[in-house]
Amino acid sequence: MNYQQIINEIYGHVSKENNSGTLANYIPELSNIDAEKFGIYLATTDSREFQIGNSLEQFSIQSVVKIFSLIMAYRLIGNEIWDRVGVEPSGTSFNSLIQLESDKGIPRNPFINSGALVICDILISNLTNPKQAFLKFINTISNDTGIIFSEKIVLSEKSVGYRNIALCNYIKSYGNIENNPDEVLDLYFNICSIEMSCKELSKACLFLANNGKTLSTQEKILNSSQTKRINAIMQTCGFYDESGEFSFKVGLPGKSGVGGGIIAIHPNKYSIAVWSPKLNAKGNSYRGMKFLELLTTRMQSSIF
Ligand code: GLN
Repeated sequence: MNYQQIINEIYGHVSKENNSGTLANYIPELSNIDAEKFGIYLATTDSREFQIGNSLEQFSIQSVVKIFSLIMAYRLIGNEIWDRVGVEPSGTSFNSLIQLESDKGIPRNPFINSGALVICDILISNLTNPKQAFLKFINTISNDTGIIFSEKIVLSEKSVGYRNIALCNYIKSYGNIENNPDEVLDLYFNICSIEMSCKELSKACLFLANNGKTLSTQEKILNSSQTKRINAIMQTCGFYDESGEFSFKVGLPGKSGVGGGIIAIHPNKYSIAVWSPKLNAKGNSYRGMKFLELLTTRMQSSIF
C-alpha cells in the first residue's frame, strides 16, 4: 500500500474543505496560533516514515501528554494506580467536575483533567524531581534531548486555571491528592505545556505500537500486557465525551489535546500524529478527526 500517496490525497481533500471549529482560546496563549496549520507524521514499526504539511513544527501537545504521565506513574507504582483513578469513559467534558462528588474523588479515568491531576500527585509522591524526571522520560522514549516545558504556556494557563484549581482542591477534600494542590497544579500545567512536532510525537509514541519497546533503542518501556492496557484506555477514554465517536469513525486507540494535536496507534503497525489547531465542540481537532477517519477508511486499517 502506498502510504505517502494516500496521505497526500486525504490531506489535499481535507485542506480544501471548510476548516470548522475554534481555537482553544480559554488559554490566552493558544489563541495566537495560526489556525490553518496542518501537519501529519506517520511512523511504522518497520521503520518507514511518511509526512506532509507542518509536520516538523512544534505545537502545544496539552492533554496528549497525559499518555506519558500515566505511563510514568504505571511504571512507578504498577496496578496500585487503579485504586486512585478508574478506567471507565466519563462521557463528560475534559474539565468536568460533576462526577467527582458521586465517585468520592476518584476520577473516572487518567485522561480527563481530574484523573491527570491525581496522576501528577502520584508522580510527586514517588519522584524527587518530577519535572526533571518527566523530561528525561520523554527524552528516552523519543530519543531526543531537545524537548522542554514552555514557560509562556504555563503562565498563560495558570492565569486562567480556575477550573483545574477547583478540581484539584475538590479531589484533595476527598483525600485523593496527597501533596500540596499548588505543587500538583504546577506539575500539571508544566507537563501540559510541552511542545512537540508531529514527527517527535509519532516517534515518541511508536513504542505503544511496538509491544512496549522503543524502536530506536529497543528499550522496554512497558511489558506487553501493560502496553495493551494503555492502548485500551486510549481507545475508550482518549477523546472525552467523543471517545465513542472516535472509535466508531477512526477505530484506533488515540489521544487528543486542546492544542489541536492527536496521536493514534495501530498496534504492530504504526503511530500517527496529526495537528490542526481548530477544535470541535468537544475540544478535539476538527481536521485531525476528519483526516484520521478518512485515513483508516481508505487504508482499511482500523483495529476492528
Ligand atoms: N491544559 C489543558 C487544561 O487543563 C488541557 C486540556 C486538554 O488538552 N483537553 O485545560
